[in-house]
Amino acid sequence: MGVIQISDHVYQLELPLVNVFLLELNQELVLIDVGPYKSKRLLYQLICETGRDPLKIAHIVITHAHYDHTGALSAIKKDTNARVYMQADDASLVSKGIAWQPTNAIASFLMTTFTLGGKIKFPFINIKPVTADEFIESGTILLNELLVITAPGHWKNQVVLLMQSDGGLLFAADSAENISGLKLSSENQDRRIASSSLKKLSALDFSKAVFSHGKPIISSASEIFRKTFG
Ligand SMILES: [Zn+2]
Repeated sequence: MGVIQISDHVYQLELPLVNVFLLELNQELVLIDVGPYKSKRLLYQLICETGRDPLKIAHIVITHAHYDHTGALSAIKKDTNARVYMQADDASLVSKGIAWQPTNAIASFLMTTFTLGGKIKFPFINIKPVTADEFIESGTILLNELLVITAPGHWKNQVVLLMQSDGGLLFAADSAENISGLKLSSENQDRRIASSSLKKLSALDFSKAVFSHGKPIISSASEIFRKTFG
């Protein structure tokens, strides 16, 4: 746990389950993902360590609905009234307080059975609902700086972000992990689609890459991606 400075205006904030990212763009604070439910206090502490005021978060970009990326969203939005950006289908889930949904009939049946038709709540499924302020899709350029790219496989609606300044910085979300070496995320809805998303990302140029799970790559990142996934 702690803070890693990635570039002049980007910090990796390490929460127990996930990394989230604090950016300062045009003197405004931007968070990429927020961490699970109850991580707000620790997140605010880490933001204070960077010398910034957590209550000044102006924008929150969510890469995908999973609870480790969205759980604290409701609490942080209440405190900051930050503008929330999300892919439209994930925004629809999160607006209903859903962070995960089965994608096939068997899993759907099992979930309905185990939750007694939704009566029993699970932290990885149920979050506090939040309404997104703006939908993002592939090709959207956020805040003049962050190119949105869809990267399904780990999760059907996942997006990653490419920051175009400073030689390129890829916020890879859960498209890949770098815990013990760079590899495909260990959890995928569809491994084949996840692989082809990574091939697509490997064709881009970026010098740095950061991950929701694992260590940052701080130079020659797209070359390393191409060697690993290309
Ligand atoms: Zn995920």
